[in-house]
Amino acid sequence: MKNILVTGGAGYIGSHACKVLRENGYTPVAFDNLATGWQDAVRFGPFEHGDLCDRDRLDQVFERYHPHAVMHFAALSQVGESVEKPGLYWRNNVLGSLNLIEAAVAADCRKLVFSSTCATYGDQDGVVLDEDSSQYPANSYGSSKRAIEEMLRDFEAAHGLRSVTFRYFNVAGADPEAEVGEFHRPETHLIPLILDVIEGKRADLTIFGTDYDTPDGTCIRDYVHVMDLVDAHVLGLKWLEDGNPSRVFNLGTGHGFSVREVVDEVRRVTNKAIACKEGPRRDGDCAKLVSGSDRAIRELGWRPDRSSLERMVADAWKWHQKGGYSS
Ligand code: UDP
Repeated sequence: MKNILVTGGAGYIGSHACKVLRENGYTPVAFDNLATGWQDAVRFGPFEHGDLCDRDRLDQVFERYHPHAVMHFAALSQVGESVEKPGLYWRNNVLGSLNLIEAAVAADCRKLVFSSTCATYGDQDGVVLDEDSSQYPANSYGSSKRAIEEMLRDFEAAHGLRSVTFRYFNVAGADPEAEVGEFHRPETHLIPLILDVIEGKRADLTIFGTDYDTPDGTCIRDYVHVMDLVDAHVLGLKWLEDGNPSRVFNLGTGHGFSVREVVDEVRRVTNKAIACKEGPRRDGDCAKLVSGSDRAIRELGWRPDRSSLERMVADAWKWHQKGGYSS
């Protein structure tokens, strides 16, 4: 079986990717520093504890497994934190990725699937966000990811490292079998926070900003099911295996939901009351981020069949009730 090095393999999206890689006949090698990931989430292949900022450790792992390709999920990804601590984001995300990319090239591993983000586009009122849109990130999370996209272009030109870059919109839901799921401590993401309120783990949900220029005044995001998202990664890997050139794909559904609409849907699916209060805007947030392209559907044959809001909430709720990971 071919080994795939999965950085961030103990995290939310990385752990789901490991499951789907395994189902597709690959061996996922999870590489994670466990800063935000969980060893309990590593269930589908070997675990290698390590930090992307430690180049020697990376070289050891490449030497041990000779990975056929890399899936690079490991990153800090909180918009608000990135505004407060840009240095943390540039060091961890950009320097970490530089080490990884250099280690991959040194080990003659020249296929990489990269997790980027719609936060690289920033706030562009009324502009359809397709892959050719300009990128004006509104926070250090977005600018760190844009920098890595540029790094990948330079390394392809110089060293022939081909990559597929996925710009995620908002990832939600969980493995429908609830073997793995979303679990952050502290939690900052909308749907798990609402589920925490339902379970009495927090008193209420604060809606960050109700004066945006959107129909109900709250931010609009395009949510995509984590299982659909990781399916796209396997298709991206096959795209590279087939010898195709580097390519960027948005991963979103093209449909946006406001914060209030998400709260209403969670209320409907779970049939539970949700206490909400209105708060100020969160630094770095854009009013609306919705994918304006179906390139992944057309070119990769991606089918985001599980990305209805109802299904994402239902799968997240099923997982949430298991109580998350302990280590
Ligand atoms: N949000 C909110 N209250 C919270 C957490 C998030 O109103 O306690 C909003 C946030 O401002 C954004 C949306 O929910 O508009 C999704 O935020 P999340 O942090 O889940 O993902 P992001 O868009 O930052 O990737």
